[in-house]
Amino acid sequence: MKRPVFAANWKMHHGPTDAREFMRAFLAHYPRQHDRTVLFFPPALTLHAVAEAIRERADIVLGVQNIYWEDKGAFTGELSAPIARDAGARVVLVGHSERRHVFGETDEQTGKKCAAAVRAGLIPLLCVGEKLEQRERGETEDVVLRQLRAGIAGLQPAQVGGMLFAYEPVWAIGTGRNATPDDASAVHAALRNALRVVVADKASTVPILYGGSVNRGNAVHLVRAPEVDGVLVGGASLDADGWAAIVRA
Ligand code: PGA
Repeated sequence: MKRPVFAANWKMHHGPTDAREFMRAFLAHYPRQHDRTVLFFPPALTLHAVAEAIRERADIVLGVQNIYWEDKGAFTGELSAPIARDAGARVVLVGHSERRHVFGETDEQTGKKCAAAVRAGLIPLLCVGEKLEQRERGETEDVVLRQLRAGIAGLQPAQVGGMLFAYEPVWAIGTGRNATPDDASAVHAALRNALRVVVADKASTVPILYGGSVNRGNAVHLVRAPEVDGVLVGGASLDADGWAAIVRA
């Protein structure tokens, strides 16, 4: 029996006012369930509003969408792992495709961010995924394995064993075109095999989520697919009723 993870990546949506309203509706539709984990990645300035709303709900975990790799210093506008942790985050997204492809984040930087997260006691959720042209050239595995290895390069095996991972094909994010459960399973299996080299048997329990155009219709099929341990959801996590329906399914 797997214990699926349902992660909501709100991206640059929902300020504190919207988030309070969202959480009221969501919590009303989602009573505590012990067989799954729910994660929220709100914008950093919304973290506090969500933290307040889930104070009585230890089954719901809070994360931030990004951190900088230095612990402190003169880095105007950035957010460190210790600050995120102090503000209530337990998890951090690293290497999301928008960080890589809109903001130019490199593989090396994702490695530094994962190391910074672990130093501060945050769990990195490392995202990997290929672009459409890379998929068409048959490079999917090469790309995601390179991203995986770079992301964990600065970590000890035991630290890698405590991480979360997500396979998010770039061509599927926000496009309405999701990977099929079979396609996702195949890539997840390749990622898990690569993890096995680092963390041995622990690899079978490291959560690997799928993300990219997950919605109410396809979530249950993706979560049930072999090797898929949950979903990382953008657009379909923005509406409280719809998100509650996905998490409950
Ligand atoms: P999407 O985004 O569900 O809107 O495709 C997923 C993600 O970027 O994490």
